[in-house]
Amino acid sequence: MPIANGEILKDALHNHYAVPAFSAHSFDMVDAILEESQSENYPVIIQIGQRAIRNQQMQSLSDYIRYRAQSVTVPVVIHLDHSHDFSQVVQALRAGFTSCMIDASLLPFGENVALTRDVVHVCHSVSVPVEGELGTIGGVEDDAYVAEEDVVYTPVDAAAHFVAQTGVDSLAVAIGSAHGMYRREPKLDLERLKQIQEAVRIPIVLHGGSGIPREQVRKAISLGIAKINFDTELRIAFMNGWREAVRENADDPFSASLAAQASLRETVKEKIAWCGGHSDHAFS
Ligand SMILES: [Zn+2]
Repeated sequence: MPIANGEILKDALHNHYAVPAFSAHSFDMVDAILEESQSENYPVIIQIGQRAIRNQQMQSLSDYIRYRAQSVTVPVVIHLDHSHDFSQVVQALRAGFTSCMIDASLLPFGENVALTRDVVHVCHSVSVPVEGELGTIGGVEDDAYVAEEDVVYTPVDAAAHFVAQTGVDSLAVAIGSAHGMYRREPKLDLERLKQIQEAVRIPIVLHGGSGIPREQVRKAISLGIAKINFDTELRIAFMNGWREAVRENADDPFSASLAAQASLRETVKEKIAWCGGHSDHAFS
């Protein structure tokens, strides 16, 4: 299957399912995510975030995903996660990404609009959709930390203006989810989500998917969430598998790698089920 772009989110919104966006930090993780998505016959977004990019993995992961996607039949999107910088978006486009997020959510509203609009302009010129963010999502994501008291939920009116003024294709919102693992059970502001969806009518993105109870996720999808980001739980699953294998066989990287991938695949399988489960769509 050729690499898809984020347009898949429109289909998800109209048909009431979500596409999982899994963060990949290594080739092994890409393999596990793709193999499980294929086995579940479910579209997938593989996102490359700031941590991987800092470790010089932008081009190599993009190349590897593109190469490996040739052997699956489900749509695969290569997504740039939480970019704060126009130049980095351009680098990602050159590296073959098919979807980009510009996160200028910590800037004042007008500056967020201006930077996001510039990114939309350049991405749309090469048919790559853009995810923007309004509101602040708490927790730690790669290099950014937002304390609980600094979290600002996405205002409904501002969301409508933001989407109209920037032309973004999807919108990340702050409705009670956070990056990293939760210290107590999160409670999503579903009423706010419903109002935002009615105001913007584009796919909405839920960040911090790790640890949100399944019922809340299902409800959020029914109210317009079309993409859910998963990172923390994936890294934990992968490293747990790795650690257990090393304990038994300390000098065999191959068995450690296989065990890490098997453990990651379990988590990927679970999250796909949360996003909508087996899909009967014919992807072509
Ligand atoms: Zn995020």
